[in-house]
Amino acid sequence: MAQLNIKNLSKVYSGGVTAVSDVSLAVENKEFVVLLGPSGCGKSTALRMVAGLEFPTKGDIYIGDRLVNNVPAKDRDIAMVFQNYALYPHMKVYDNMSFALKLRGYSKRDIDKRVKDAAEILGVTRLLERKPWELSGGERQRVAVGRAIVRKPLVFLFDEPLSNLDAKMRVQMRTEIHKLHLKIQATMIYVTHDQTEAMTLGDRIAVMKDGKILQLDTPLNVYDRPINKFVAGFIGSPPMNFMEGRIIKKDSSLYFDEGKFKVKILAQMYDKLTDCIDKKIIFGVRPEDIYDKLFASYATAENTLIALCDVVETMGAQNYLYLSTSKHTFVAVTDSSNKPSTGNMVEVVFDMKKIHFFDPATEKIIV
Ligand code: ADP
Repeated sequence: MAQLNIKNLSKVYSGGVTAVSDVSLAVENKEFVVLLGPSGCGKSTALRMVAGLEFPTKGDIYIGDRLVNNVPAKDRDIAMVFQNYALYPHMKVYDNMSFALKLRGYSKRDIDKRVKDAAEILGVTRLLERKPWELSGGERQRVAVGRAIVRKPLVFLFDEPLSNLDAKMRVQMRTEIHKLHLKIQATMIYVTHDQTEAMTLGDRIAVMKDGKILQLDTPLNVYDRPINKFVAGFIGSPPMNFMEGRIIKKDSSLYFDEGKFKVKILAQMYDKLTDCIDKKIIFGVRPEDIYDKLFASYATAENTLIALCDVVETMGAQNYLYLSTSKHTFVAVTDSSNKPSTGNMVEVVFDMKKIHFFDPATEKIIV
């Protein structure tokens, strides 16, 4: 297996679209890195350049110590799994999985062992004699993954491999890919726009926007310490709530003043906020850090607010409360054992340890 090193990679398509802009990324041996971002941010283009399916306008790609910029895709020792499976429709599963090995001149015995081992790992042994049209979407994707693993490539590339599956199958295949990574310990790069896939699969996540990597870190760090408002809003479901307001100082305490409510900021954040007093600021709080007052033993007048309950979505273990002050709407994820009534006022409590502030001009994190 191998490291992958991308240095200052850019891609400008012939129409003048800059799809990838000066991206650098070092993926460690056996690491699982997810490229995450909204549609059109350049994830697939970056992956396709690593695969050798697109050529960089600028920058270098190393697989191990080898510069591969001018190495054709077939000689890069990588395997790519696509969203649309890309199986050969007229070939049986066995032949789909063995095709690349045959082309490379492997012996029949070696091919048979590799295909059967891969089939076993992926639970498709009983499907080896079927044709792709006789398989479900999930089974086809398993075969597509099998076709990649038989070659034991240096690096695996996945381009939104679960997008064509229904919700249940997507969750199941996500777990399978996670197990596969643990089992075969390969270097993997995985492209998705789905933050749950990124959080659950990645050793590290590269959050991309407009062709650039904004933040590269572990899932927990990206969640707890987002570098800016975009990353904060992209990671987490339902997304982080943002409210514009001001920092005000009263006696020697700092408060966030939304206009309709005020909450007291914890002293440990004061250092970073001294330049923000009496200025506009963006307050961020995740829905899961807002509690129904009934269940918040630490509720005080200074972390509690009253809001109108516009809608309640019952999710089973939790409720999603869609709340509003007259200035902002926001979402709280609360314990389902109390269901507030739509149209009533509810008291909710912010976990003030977990809040964030962002600069309204640059959208960078302040604290
Ligand atoms: P993502 O995978 O994040 O959805 P892509 O890498 O597919 O994004 O695309 C990034 C940008 O490059 C988009 O604006 C897209 O329209 C553009 N793009 C992608 N492929 C081509 C192409 N072959 N020719 C011109 N523009 C392209």
